[in-house]
Amino acid sequence: MNRKFRKFIWAGWLTAGLATAMIWSMPAISLGQGTVETGETGDVAQAGDLVVTRPLTREELGPFPDDPAMALDYLIYKRYFEPKKHENKVVYLTIDDGPSHKTAEYLDILESRGVKATFFLLGKQVARYPEATRAIRDRGHKLANHTYTHVYKTVYQSVDVFMEEVERTRAAILETAGVDVRLVRAPGGVYGHFEKSYYRRLEAAGYVNHDWNLDSKDSVMKKATADKIMSHIRAANKDRQVAVVLLHDSGKTSSLEALPQIIDYYLGEGYTFEVLPENETVAVHNILPLREIKAEVEAALRARDAAGQ
Ligand SMILES: [Zn+2]
Repeated sequence: MNRKFRKFIWAGWLTAGLATAMIWSMPAISLGQGTVETGETGDVAQAGDLVVTRPLTREELGPFPDDPAMALDYLIYKRYFEPKKHENKVVYLTIDDGPSHKTAEYLDILESRGVKATFFLLGKQVARYPEATRAIRDRGHKLANHTYTHVYKTVYQSVDVFMEEVERTRAAILETAGVDVRLVRAPGGVYGHFEKSYYRRLEAAGYVNHDWNLDSKDSVMKKATADKIMSHIRAANKDRQVAVVLLHDSGKTSSLEALPQIIDYYLGEGYTFEVLPENETVAVHNILPLREIKAEVEAALRARDAAGQ
């Protein structure tokens, strides 16, 4: 682990687009590459560093009380690799890329069947459809963060730009709907996009990234129709215990038309509908950078145990 990463600062939130920073009085971790001063009572990382930090509590420091950087990796390790037990069959409907001019129709269908969904919103769409954003909140669904532009070339330019997009979207949703969202989904998923630094920056800023485990293919299927989407889901779902279904609210008619069938299918199969939680990750795309963090943490735990004997 490099030296810069190990620097601790006395700082709080410094969000990219926001001029305000809250001062904390506990040690936090700097994950930035620039110069970050260590201070006694509340220096803030310099603008341009785009350092987003939060102090780790004693509990979060866990087995690494003197090594917040490793403690952070340990939090990531626990979040993504500790298996969650689900006694019943659960489905998480996740609806991405909205809000759109069709959001109200999604909400009506969901309400007619009494189920809740998680909406991964784009900041630019929130700015365009503020009423729809508030309607999602008012109808009791979960609002979540899917970056501001969704443009891969921009979003994945660097981890700083990625976090900037996340923070900008968070601010847009907060301003529009008064909800401070903690759930994030990487546009296009993490595969081929995330490096270790992305997980660390998200974790340090208190975000939880959620992938999916069942792509409805509504956005990629050629000439998608509601029936095609549904038969794909039926074939792909098999008898899985936990389904995190990826669907889109990007203005496409077929996605919307498939929604009643999808809900009825899962209700018929005895699934409970839930919204994605903030304290755990349900579906994980097990990509190499995550496995590297896992290996580092397991090595540190072994070293710690060996030293203790
Ligand atoms: Zn998307």
